[in-house]
Amino acid sequence: GNQNKVEVNILLLGAENVGKSALTVRFLTKRFIGEYGNIESVYSHVEKIDRRDISFNIWDSLYPQSCESSESVSEEQLRWADGIVLVYSICDRASFEVVQQQITLIQKLFSSLSFSVPMVVVGNKRDLHHRRVVSSEEGRLLALSADCGFFEVSAAEAYHGVLLVFHGLHELIKEARGVK
Ligand code: GDP
Ligand code: MG
Repeated sequence: GNQNKVEVNILLLGAENVGKSALTVRFLTKRFIGEYGNIESVYSHVEKIDRRDISFNIWDSLYPQSCESSESVSEEQLRWADGIVLVYSICDRASFEVVQQQITLIQKLFSSLSFSVPMVVVGNKRDLHHRRVVSSEEGRLLALSADCGFFEVSAAEAYHGVLLVFHGLHELIKEARGVK
């Protein structure tokens, strides 16, 4: 057995088509495959960080089709999560607004549940800079205002930036748990 085994539950939120599945697959396999099905699933992946096996469970969520009928974040998801990644696409203004709305909703839920978990905001598709409509500054300010970490990455272009998102969030989770 491994007494050092640590479980970390990470919830991926954000609008459809922003690259939640691409980021998940990149983290799990180091690869970008281009096409991802529309399925909701939890994926498990063990990473060695500081000689510890960290078991990441990634909940790759689906944004609801009609947001009038159901909220886009559930209490169940928040109770499950140790950390949250909120993803938008830098070339999709509406997806940035979805992240803003989800942050507001999450903060409301957390205050009624009397707990919270660390969150990071991720602007994906940085490789599509010629189509950028959300500036880095806007992203950074949103993250700052909600006390979240902030990253701009490209799931299509590189593994390293994506790795930093998950490792960065893991660091924040460790801090929140009071682990050295
Ligand atoms: P999801 O609905 O949020 O899970 O989004 P997907 O992961 O399915 O990605 C949606 C589309 O965007 C797919 O065609 C991906 O290939 C593409 N995509 C995802 N990440 C990137 C990226 O970083 N750069 C570019 N250029 N395309 C991306
Ligand atoms: Mg997906």
